Amino acid sequence: MNEAVCWLNGELLPARAACVPVSDHGLLYGDGVFEGIRFYHGRAFRLAEHLDRLQRSAAAICLMLPYERAALTAAVAATIAAYGRPDGYLRLVVTRGAGRLGLDPASCQKPNLFILADELALVSEAVRAQGARVIIASTRRIAPDALDPRIKSLNYLNHILARIEATQAGADEAILLNAQGRVAEGTADNVFVARGGVLLTPPADDGALEGITRAAVLELAAAGGIPWAVRSLGAFDLYTAEECFLTGTGAELIPVREVDGRAAGACPGPVFRRLQAAFHRLVERETTTARVA
Ligand code: PMP
Repeated sequence: MNEAVCWLNGELLPARAACVPVSDHGLLYGDGVFEGIRFYHGRAFRLAEHLDRLQRSAAAICLMLPYERAALTAAVAATIAAYGRPDGYLRLVVTRGAGRLGLDPASCQKPNLFILADELALVSEAVRAQGARVIIASTRRIAPDALDPRIKSLNYLNHILARIEATQAGADEAILLNAQGRVAEGTADNVFVARGGVLLTPPADDGALEGITRAAVLELAAAGGIPWAVRSLGAFDLYTAEECFLTGTGAELIPVREVDGRAAGACPGPVFRRLQAAFHRLVERETTTARVA
């Protein structure tokens, strides 16, 4: 296994030697934003989309990114090169930076930015092949009018509580509903179902992150003539789906075989298989030919 590496404020280090101060508000209050990015063939997948989302997340919390776009793109490339493996996962984190105790970010002079390169296996190969067993968590998604789900912030406690529920129930993943009982998302992924031959996924307004893999899957569905819609879903839609699957940078595409003990339709179903094959082709195409971030 290659050692994890970290680009920290312009310097490349072994990850175990990379440190931020304990007075960093990212650590003290979860004050910061991040991206999870996969790379294949030594190239980040959909880096432009990730950097766009990072910029929007940062703008929404009044955090000035400490590097320009070109410098961030170069830093990502340098991190991948230093890691030395063609495939892996990057965690790009921007914290508010070191400051005084107290919530006010005004005391934080300079954000810390680091990019960690490592492996990420969200589920085992067996779960990828046979499908995930998921539960609907009793923990509800934080309301979009309390914290906009489009902000990819360092505050993951809401999702961590749902993740703990999944582990305690012996399930592979948990899906969060919003306060109205509509499906929001998984703990680190977006949710799709196929019903009546139509591919459906919940809107950001219901508490879904605007996932980059989700957008790629919708693009592939459109290109492949699979009808799709962004629509509110309830637990019933999951329980009675013809197919259900999860998408995310870490997850890629994971079929779901069971929701709360009910068989979740065909697993892996025909729509999933088509989209998964198309996704792999897309990744190959975009990471083996030049695509400017
Ligand atoms: N929802 C949440 C809460 C996530 O953490 C992630 C992973 N970033 C996703 C959805 C999927 O988004 P993406 O496809 O951009 O990784």
